[in-house]
Amino acid sequence: MNQYFIKINRKSVYENVNVGNTKTVVPGIVETKVSFCIKFSNEVKDIMWKKGWGFYHGPSILEVRFMIQNFTRKMYNFLIRYNKNTYKIFKKLIKNKNAFVVSIGGADGYEGIIIDEDRNIQTLRHEPEQQYFSQYKKTKVQCNECGSKFIHSKLDWELTCPVCDMPDCCEVEYEQIEDIIGVIK
Ligand SMILES: [Zn+2]
Repeated sequence: MNQYFIKINRKSVYENVNVGNTKTVVPGIVETKVSFCIKFSNEVKDIMWKKGWGFYHGPSILEVRFMIQNFTRKMYNFLIRYNKNTYKIFKKLIKNKNAFVVSIGGADGYEGIIIDEDRNIQTLRHEPEQQYFSQYKKTKVQCNECGSKFIHSKLDWELTCPVCDMPDCCEVEYEQIEDIIGVIK
């Protein structure tokens, strides 16, 4: 059986300034909200009826607000190009799988298209961060089954050969950070 001892690259070891930290703040997805007014025409009535949004009486102008995921430059250009023909925009967004109506209601008059971008902040909770970061030296290992040679990082946790898929294709021992730093706090 081929046996390997994978050593830590001494130069790669550095202390983590966030040791023990259990929270990481990351930017969430961007949500784009687009609001505009449309004439409450029979076509709009039909669409709303088919979508099951109920039936509105009274207002002759509606303000609709969509939430759009993966807002693209193309979408932005479309909104600008058809800003005087908001019915066309309405029809386009209704069919878009990344667009969702978030509100719809009567409006006093026509207003321009409003585009709002919201980026949520997410806090991830995780195990306390380790005290040291390190990387292993790129070490060539050989599969016992097919004889292929490759860098140890190609092995998964079951030590499967990336060429012939044999699990435990060689024996590997990894150097531990404690062995070079001494006692970890
Ligand atoms: Zn193999």
